[in-house]
Amino acid sequence: MRIAFFGGTFDPPHRGHLAIAKAAADGLRLDLVLFAPVGNQPLKHDSSAASFEDRLEMVRLAIAGDLRFQLSTIDAPRRDDCPNYTVDTIGLLRASLEPEDHLFCLVGADSFLSLPRWYHAAELLVACDFIIAGRPGFDFENAGKALPRGVRLCGDPLHEVGLTVLHVAGEADRTSTLYFLPDLREEISATELRAALADHLVDDSELPQPVADYIRAHQLYR
Ligand code: ATP
Repeated sequence: MRIAFFGGTFDPPHRGHLAIAKAAADGLRLDLVLFAPVGNQPLKHDSSAASFEDRLEMVRLAIAGDLRFQLSTIDAPRRDDCPNYTVDTIGLLRASLEPEDHLFCLVGADSFLSLPRWYHAAELLVACDFIIAGRPGFDFENAGKALPRGVRLCGDPLHEVGLTVLHVAGEADRTSTLYFLPDLREEISATELRAALADHLVDDSELPQPVADYIRAHQLYR
């Protein structure tokens, strides 16, 4: 099976998330995209966040329309309240799969650019292949500059139908492939959505309808 791990705060899940998951599933012929709300995001501290349980429920509602999308609780809050480091989550997930399964990690370009600040980033980047969804202002030609220390580019970018592909190598000569999806121009931001919801100015078109209904029914982001 070809499986992508799609981690995020999903606070709330919006159409931008669904659009990149669909583009990744179509472009890389994925069998599964595992949407995994994160319990304790190491780099985010936002008191207006919805609870893990609410985010889980909203993701469950958001992904209902695509059989390739599945909810995963692998990134639920850890018992010791420790941050959920993606490198650990990918290790856990890998251990739960069959050896012949192909594992990818799906991220937006903004997350990819912040990789050097992630815990054990060099190890993570060669732990599985990556699918990176373009966002305005991101130029994949400069992707090399976003690589964490200890990871280097191998060769020039290759252009396949609808994809740009780069190979990287890291510690102990482990390698991985980075697949860059074109910018879908779904310029939706969860941060802006939360602000709009707090001011009752939300544009429902940016949210799957069941998620908008859930937010209203549970009075989230007030
Ligand atoms: P916030 O504004 O709270 O940071 P976010 O949607 O960027 O919200 P997450 O919910 O953690 O944050 O996003 C999960 C993943 O989806 C991240 O890798 C992010 O880069 C990506 N992503 C989110 N929105 C978009 C979008 N509109 N286009 C492309 N990628 C996106």
